[in-house]
Amino acid sequence: MRALRSSAIRDLLTVTARPDVISLAGGLPDPELVPRKRIRESADRALSTSESVQYTETAGWFGLREVVADREGAGRSAAVDPRRVVITHGSQQALSLLAQVLLDPGATVVVEEPAYTGALQVFRTAEARILAVPLDADGMCTDRLEEMLAAGERPVLVHTVSNFHNPRGVTLSADRRGRLAALAERYGFWVIEDDPYGEIWFGGPPPEPVAAHSDRVIRLSSVSKILAPSLRVGWLCAPAEICAAVELVKQGADLCGSSLTQQVAAELLADGPWLAAHLTTIRGEYGVRAAALGDAVAARFGDTVAATDVRGGMFSWLEFRDGTDAAALLAAAVERKVAFVPGSAFAVDGGHRHCLRLCFTTNGPDLLREAVARLADAHAAST
Ligand code: PMP
Repeated sequence: MRALRSSAIRDLLTVTARPDVISLAGGLPDPELVPRKRIRESADRALSTSESVQYTETAGWFGLREVVADREGAGRSAAVDPRRVVITHGSQQALSLLAQVLLDPGATVVVEEPAYTGALQVFRTAEARILAVPLDADGMCTDRLEEMLAAGERPVLVHTVSNFHNPRGVTLSADRRGRLAALAERYGFWVIEDDPYGEIWFGGPPPEPVAAHSDRVIRLSSVSKILAPSLRVGWLCAPAEICAAVELVKQGADLCGSSLTQQVAAELLADGPWLAAHLTTIRGEYGVRAAALGDAVAARFGDTVAATDVRGGMFSWLEFRDGTDAAALLAAAVERKVAFVPGSAFAVDGGHRHCLRLCFTTNGPDLLREAVARLADAHAAST
């Protein structure tokens, strides 16, 4: 326990909950875009069954496992067997269960840096030895991973957020997906393809998943970003031996997830025309917000920052070229009632001090422009 630290983001969220602060610090869907009416109707229907008020199978309500398997298999050459899907309490629990199954203390894991903080927390709790591979505009630098492997590193697993990375905003290119899968086969490590954002694309969908290239890939996703995080419905899709081990550990973790929210998720995910229309709405809305944020950053900061070319997801990543320290900027920004997450929160061993993450999903274009104006003011005052 002594080695564990609280997530800087979860701590920051308590500070930024004040209503007068424009927070770009979260990583949340807009509550106005959560399909509450559909969820309510579906929950009503589910509640008329006795299954929905009972414990369900540890691996998840089978009806949802079937729907998820269909979706995971869509666009891939081979169908996905529902018995290779385990429903979890958000995809975060999938990460945590996988760490229990796969990692002994001291085991080597590779993460992308800047890293998803929830993955860092899980791997630190597992007392793993964490190595970082940098990201560029095409996602994880697989040549750097290859160098590590050639130098003798033998990770048990490599964690990647393949689509619209949290926090970096970038997507792993098709070439590198194939490369990563080939390295996994050659060196015998597992890839955890952590993909909660893949459906939230603006121009067009991302390339086919890393999991389409190899059986050494365990895919994670959830309904948190497209329906509602409060349903706490996520999943992993993995080879049979991994699912069996995860199920055993999960028996001790929670017996089972919520059959009520799993039935709701199953109904909504299975309703193709409704889901397509809903996804079109959120893609359109978030796309407009991402563009508004990007334009405002370009107008206010010009060449002072390099910003992600955002094509989906929820985040833009800014890197200051003038040496601005993002943690110091945050203090000035909070005084001006705007908040973001400084890059150091996503570092494995320090670093990313000149960077910050902005979330564009929970504020409309006007508020985003106002937030960037306040940020520019804070920047001018702190440099
Ligand atoms: N993976 C990534 C990359 C995330 O950004 C998040 C949410 N912040 C999660 C997993 C976990 O999400 P959930 O447990 O709600 O599915």
